[in-house]
Amino acid sequence: MAKVKEFSVEEKLVAVLTLQKIDSKIDEIKTLQGELPMEVKDLEDEIEGLQTRVTNINAEIDSINTFVGQKTDAKKEAQDLIKKYEKQQENVKNSREFEAINKELEMQELEVKLNDKHIKDAGYELKERTAAKDNTLAKIKEVNERLTEKRAELEKIIGETDKEEQMLIQRSADAKEKVDPRLLTAYERIRTSYHNGLAVVPIMRDSCGGCFNIIPPQRQSEIRQHKKIIVCEHCGRVLVDVELNDKVKLGK
Ligand SMILES: [Zn+2]
Repeated sequence: MAKVKEFSVEEKLVAVLTLQKIDSKIDEIKTLQGELPMEVKDLEDEIEGLQTRVTNINAEIDSINTFVGQKTDAKKEAQDLIKKYEKQQENVKNSREFEAINKELEMQELEVKLNDKHIKDAGYELKERTAAKDNTLAKIKEVNERLTEKRAELEKIIGETDKEEQMLIQRSADAKEKVDPRLLTAYERIRTSYHNGLAVVPIMRDSCGGCFNIIPPQRQSEIRQHKKIIVCEHCGRVLVDVELNDKVKLGK
C-alpha cells in the first residue's frame, strides 16, 4: 500500500467534494445535450404536422377544382340546350309549343345562373385554401430555418463538449482514486439514488443543499470543524460548510 499517510477529515472532504464537482459538471454537459435533441425532435414533428396540413389542403384544392370542372361542363351543357331551344322556337307550329320550349329555355337559363354561382363560390373557397396553403408553406420555411439552427447548435455542442466530457471523465477517475474507499462507496450510492446526482452538498441558508431541510446550529458548527464526516439526517448526503465548498474549485 502506497498510501501510508492517514488523511485528515478535511482532506477526505476536499477529495470527495472535488469528485462531486467534476461529476456535476459532467451531469451538466449531459443535461445540455439532453435538451437540444428534444428541441430538434419537436421541430421535426412540427414540420411533419405542417406538411400533413399542406397535403390535406392540396387534396381540398383538387376537389374544388374537380367541382368547378363539373359545374363548368354543366353550364356549357345548359348553354348548348339554350341554343338548341332557340333554334326550335324559330320553327314552332303554335303558341302552346312555343310556351313549352320557353319553359325549357327558362329552366336552362336558371341552370346557367346556378352553375355560375357555384363556380364563383368555389373561386372564393379556392382563394381561401390557397392562402392557407401559402401560410403553411411560409411556416414550414420558418420552422425549417429554426431546425437548421438547432441542428447546427447541437452538432457544435456535441463537438465541443465531447472533448470536455472526455477530459472530465478522466479527471473524475483520477479524483476517485483520492477519495477514501468507504466514503466513495457512500458517495456512489447516494449519487445514484438522487435525480440531481448530488451526494456532497454545502449548507445553504442554514439548510441542507440537497433536501433543503434545516440544519440545527450545533450541527452546523460541527460541520465547520471538519472533525468528522457529517451526513444530512434527512437525505443522507454528505454536508460541507460554505467556506470549504468555495475553496474547492475545478479550474481548467
Ligand atoms: Zn439533506
